[in-house]
Amino acid sequence: MGKKFDFIISGGGLVGCILASELSKLNFKCCIIEKNKFELSRKSNNINPLSLNYRSRIILEKLKLWNLLKSECNPISELTLKHFNNLSRVKFQSNDVNLRNLGYIFDRNFFQNTLRKNILDNKKITILDNTAVKDITHNKTNNNITLSQNDQRVSSKYVIVCDTSESSLVKFVCNDVEKINYNQTSLIISAEGTFTASSAVQHFTKYGVLALLPHSSKTASLVMTIKDEFLSEFIIDDSLNDQNIVRLFKNYSEKLSLKSLVGQYSMQTSRAKSLLRNNVILFGNSSHLIHTIGAQGYNLALRNVEAFIEYFSEKQIEDNNSLNKLVNKIDQDRHDVFDNIDFALSMFLNDSPISKLLSKSIITSLKLYPGLKNKFLKKIIGLEKYPYLSAETI
Ligand SMILES: Cc1cc2nc3c(=O)[nH]c(=O)nc-3n(C[C@H](O)[C@H](O)[C@H](O)COP(=O)(O)OP(=O)(O)OC[C@H]3O[C@@H](n4cnc5c(N)ncnc54)[C@H](O)[C@@H]3O)c2cc1C
Repeated sequence: MGKKFDFIISGGGLVGCILASELSKLNFKCCIIEKNKFELSRKSNNINPLSLNYRSRIILEKLKLWNLLKSECNPISELTLKHFNNLSRVKFQSNDVNLRNLGYIFDRNFFQNTLRKNILDNKKITILDNTAVKDITHNKTNNNITLSQNDQRVSSKYVIVCDTSESSLVKFVCNDVEKINYNQTSLIISAEGTFTASSAVQHFTKYGVLALLPHSSKTASLVMTIKDEFLSEFIIDDSLNDQNIVRLFKNYSEKLSLKSLVGQYSMQTSRAKSLLRNNVILFGNSSHLIHTIGAQGYNLALRNVEAFIEYFSEKQIEDNNSLNKLVNKIDQDRHDVFDNIDFALSMFLNDSPISKLLSKSIITSLKLYPGLKNKFLKKIIGLEKYPYLSAETI
């Protein structure tokens, strides 16, 4: 059987690290299996943005992680949503809902390094790195899962999969994965200029969705999710067309200059149809990749982690029905977010005259009715049911 753990977590990224650290706080013996070296990445001037909404801050506070992270985030207290032209523009402010901030923008590398350092300092968590699971065996008698990678074997009653949507463990849990190709590409660009540090923007254009995420009054990330038919107007062979890009953002910054292309992602996403088999559970990127429109991926994962940790802290461990219930709840949360993302895409990124008319009337109603606007804002920042546009992407 190999060495036995309470939990094995495949993937030591943003989700795997939080799960391992929280389960270890509950005195469970955990093992992380990471395909690459489990190390801290070097400091870089290229910020890769990670936007978190207010709800995520509350969860991170509850998990006692916020104090480790807060010094390096840029708080956002205002966001502007603009649909095509200036008439269809609405501004949300944290004062509207009596909060100091709506959300926060982090450097993803800093965030991951902080979580990994926490794990590396925790001698109770075993790390197997530079390796990936090859074989999976389930023992029906004792309900144990044994995982083999190269010449090592480990076993556990619970395996949490936080690696990729293509891993052997994902295939073990679910063969039915819905693939969605939006024919769009996300470009993450580091920029300098003059910005209002606390103010983020999301602008829907005929080219796609543009987001301006400030890190300070002088630096920002531009996130452009561009329809592939227009991509060559903005990038060819990794070379950015500075002039065209600056033109699109000119209303949001003076003296804008592009520093580097930090990342380029094709919007080919996936949604696993089921999340649980023999106590192997899919989480984070293993359970779904979602469109970046609302920067929802990690915000959703944190809500799922919160539910999971609450469940295991209440020691319902032996009850399989209640594990099914928990996974159903997590699945329901995912579907709420999928629905909201699908709705936002069909309204705000659809060129059909009907969608344009409807989205215009949504924005006009938000401007006319403060009650509706606040309700919408609470949804965005995760404080009312579940959001579809996170404060920080906008
Ligand atoms: C362009 C873009 C922008 C985004 N912006 C936001 C945002 O602003 N806000 C937000 O909330 N979400 C955002 N997301 C979503 C967010 O990035 C994901 O929700 C988050 O990274 C999921 O974390 P994870 O731990 O599941 O995956 P990752 O952080 O990718 O970690 C996966 C880990 O598994 C390892 N691994 C891979 N394969 C294997 C294997 N076979 N075996 C073992 N280990 C393996 C990898 O090396 C890695 O360490 C964005 C996503 C994209 C693509």
